[in-house]
Amino acid sequence: MEKIKLVFLGTGCSNPTVERNLTAIALRHQGQWILFDCAEGTQRQMMKTGVSYMKTKYIFFSHFHADHFLGFPGLVATMSMHERDFPLHIFGPKGTKERIERALSLGMMRKDFEIKITEVTRAGTIVKEPGFEIDAFSLKHEVPCLGFAFREKDKEGEFQRAKALKLLPEGPLWGKLQKGQAVKHKGKTIKPEQVMDYSKARKGRKISIVMDTLPSSIYFDYIMDSDVLVHEAAFADKFEKRAKETTHSTARQAAKVAVRTNAKKLVITHVSPRHKKNSELENEARQEFANVVVAKDLDEIEI
Ligand SMILES: [Zn+2]
Ligand SMILES: [Zn+2]
Repeated sequence: MEKIKLVFLGTGCSNPTVERNLTAIALRHQGQWILFDCAEGTQRQMMKTGVSYMKTKYIFFSHFHADHFLGFPGLVATMSMHERDFPLHIFGPKGTKERIERALSLGMMRKDFEIKITEVTRAGTIVKEPGFEIDAFSLKHEVPCLGFAFREKDKEGEFQRAKALKLLPEGPLWGKLQKGQAVKHKGKTIKPEQVMDYSKARKGRKISIVMDTLPSSIYFDYIMDSDVLVHEAAFADKFEKRAKETTHSTARQAAKVAVRTNAKKLVITHVSPRHKKNSELENEARQEFANVVVAKDLDEIEI
């Protein structure tokens, strides 16, 4: 089973610091990369970590505060220079189309490939690929802001090609057997269990990305049972009031969300420049939820 990889390209908020680039996260699934947000400096962070912008088909924007977005036109310019010739799919909240078009008109650049923009106006599944789906849902921030859940499809079991070939030739009936349906071939019924090894069944992995938000039950249903929950937490306890005023979470609040939604692991990101070290946020979060880390730039996690 190939691991899913998460790469934290930038883990800061507001303004970049020596330690932290601004927010962007890359996810790799079966050789394909997906980007969540694209702050300034993202493309150099991608180069450092081997995240391929030519194998990036999707970019999901949580919202358009500058610390999540300003790397986008530069990334598109580089993609064009490298003669990308296949579409890039962009998703974001209401207003995405206008923002993206304005951003792309700023720099004089060639753009030889198609950019398909989708504004998410209703929570639910927004991408359906053969191996995974992506859900989008609203967060509670001062501007429209989305969270995303990457859900890998469950594996029903392993198809035994050699066994199948002995029973019937390759063709559409194989697909039916893989889906668990019995088929008829030359008058004989073939049952799925004759060609499927159900001991290899596996539940799909789930990774949820919750960017700028007050902690709120409005998004809990969408992130339930995540293998990895990535949750923003700009602040430590001592700035709880400030977090509330600016519609952000504290590390402890993010940890409570992880508990309430039954996450297996919590990764905290989007840390304020006020916090030079991770330890304060990490210690406070750990009092609520044991399996937590505060991400540093270029950290990689395999799931
Ligand atoms: Zn932010
Ligand atoms: Zn924001």
